[in-house]
Order: sequence, then C-alpha cells, then structure tokens
Amino acid sequence: MSITSQIARNGEWEKLSLFGPINEDAEVHLPKLVQALGQNVIINFKQVESVNSCGVRAWITFMRELEKGRTLVFEECTPDIVSQINMIPNFRGKAQVQSVYASYTCPSCGNQQQHLFVKGQNLPAAASDGGGQVNCAKCGKPTEMDELEEEFFAWVEA
Ligand SMILES: [Zn+2]
Repeated sequence: MSITSQIARNGEWEKLSLFGPINEDAEVHLPKLVQALGQNVIINFKQVESVNSCGVRAWITFMRELEKGRTLVFEECTPDIVSQINMIPNFRGKAQVQSVYASYTCPSCGNQQQHLFVKGQNLPAAASDGGGQVNCAKCGKPTEMDELEEEFFAWVEA
C-alpha cells in the first residue's frame, strides 16, 4: 500500500487530498506533485493512515520545495500528523494549520471517537486552555483525550 493523492480546484485554491500511509513510497510520489500544484494549496490529511520516519524525511523535502512562493494550509490533520507537527517544526514549515482531529476515549463505555478542532471556531488559543469537554457520542458522558491536551495543542503557540 502506498500513498495516493487527488487534486481538486476551487477558485484560487487547490485542495490536495492524501490517502494511505506516508512512507518510503512518498519519496517517489510527492515530488511529482510540486509541479502540478498552483499558488494556494490546502493539504487534507484526513485519509492519511500512518507516517513513518522515511515518510517524514520525504515529506520535509517535499515541503521545502512546495512552500516556495506558495500559501499552504493543513486541514483535518490526524492525531499522527499533529504529533509530527509538534515534534518536527519543518514538518509544517510555513503552512498554517486550519483544523486537527484529536482522539478521545470514553471511560464509562469504552467508546473511541475523533473530535475536529477548527481554527476560529473551537480551537484553543493557548495549549494550556485544552480542548474543553467533549462528550461521548454513544453514552453522552465526558470523554478523555488520548494524549495530554497541553502537548497535543503545543503547536497552536508555535
Ligand atoms: Zn461513552
């Protein structure tokens, strides 16, 4: 299984949606996208399954080329992508992060769910604010984020 992508044009913006794992195959796939993309690019990570260390290297090389003269926005970053953003500043480079998914587990019924945080809506302004209460979609009781909230949101202040 290797990464695939789709580009959709919408006015002055192009949306690059990525699918599958970001791994060693990304070294071949990603460079081809640089020429195909215009000036304003939204990168959607919703369907990215995993990222490994080869993939991270390929991604950083890709970003270095892609961010030249472009406006870049990351949207629907998975928890995996968020931890890369927090650990490796070059992972996002100059891109703005518009929205991220956090994973929550319900201590009452064991349900696991993802919650989307969107800049300008429910994204905290400071990491220490945390994500606020997220209720279980199954039983309605308060859930707990799988990561430490302050670490998960560290990037909002970067
Ligand atoms: Zn529950």
